[in-house]
Amino acid sequence: MSAEPSSGVAIVTGAVRGIGRAVCLELARAGYRVVANYRGDDELAQSLVSEIAQEGGHAVALRADVTVADDVAGLIEGTLSTFGRLDVLVNNAGITRDTLLMRMSETDWDAVLTTNLKGAFLCSKAAIRPMMRQRSGSIINLTSVVGLVGNAGQTNYAAAKAGLVGFTKSLAKEVGSRGITVNAVAPGFIETRLTDVLPDELKGTIQTQIPLGRMGRPEDVAGVVAFLASPAARYITGAVISVDGGLFMAT
Ligand code: NAD
Repeated sequence: MSAEPSSGVAIVTGAVRGIGRAVCLELARAGYRVVANYRGDDELAQSLVSEIAQEGGHAVALRADVTVADDVAGLIEGTLSTFGRLDVLVNNAGITRDTLLMRMSETDWDAVLTTNLKGAFLCSKAAIRPMMRQRSGSIINLTSVVGLVGNAGQTNYAAAKAGLVGFTKSLAKEVGSRGITVNAVAPGFIETRLTDVLPDELKGTIQTQIPLGRMGRPEDVAGVVAFLASPAARYITGAVISVDGGLFMAT
């Protein structure tokens, strides 16, 4: 028996490529009307909207920098004026600026913390107002296994992603009584622009260590995000679900 298609509305930040794009497609296929947030690439954003429309779904692309409070306010207002409600927020926008701590500039530190952590704060704060009015909603944060186990060369990214785990659990406790769930998904190594930059030798080594024998695909993560957004996950909140092919199993 297949699940009823959703009539809900979902915002996905940083949506035009990689995991965000796959999440938009997956949510649109599940029936959500999708707001694909992007920062700069109009062409990619429009191609995503067209792809969703071709599949019979509904989507709009809204430009906003998730690190700028006024932009985020515009994103939520734009969503409400277009679709009249907001059911799901996927905090997906993220960047890396990898280097050893000894060489890390304050700019690299601030950029990564601001995009990955403050961006989720600004978007969640703006999104929970309409969700509280509806007394329902779901927020899903893209953290990383790096935030759980650490990684040399990524102190800024690991701190931001570990921060997102604390943020997820704390907000889950704040808004649970209003019918809003807050969860995190922690991908391992997924084939996107973020991991394209890794040397082939390192990717080969990582691959041999993954029990499922391959790097992840954006669709592997998108399915879990869509599950957390769905009624099937209604009794899950404050959870962090790893999607890493078994690379980092909890002991
Ligand atoms: P990606 O670089 O392909 O996509 C990230 C998107 O975020 C881009 O479209 C970018 O334009 C957007 N973005 C960046 N700053 C923004 C801002 N200020 N405002 C709006 N959009 C902004 O990367 P991805 O691999 O698809 O990563 C998606 C998420 O998953 C990120 O949060 C990342 O940290 C996380 N993640 C990825 C992996 C992986 O292996 N690829 C692993 C763990 C976690």
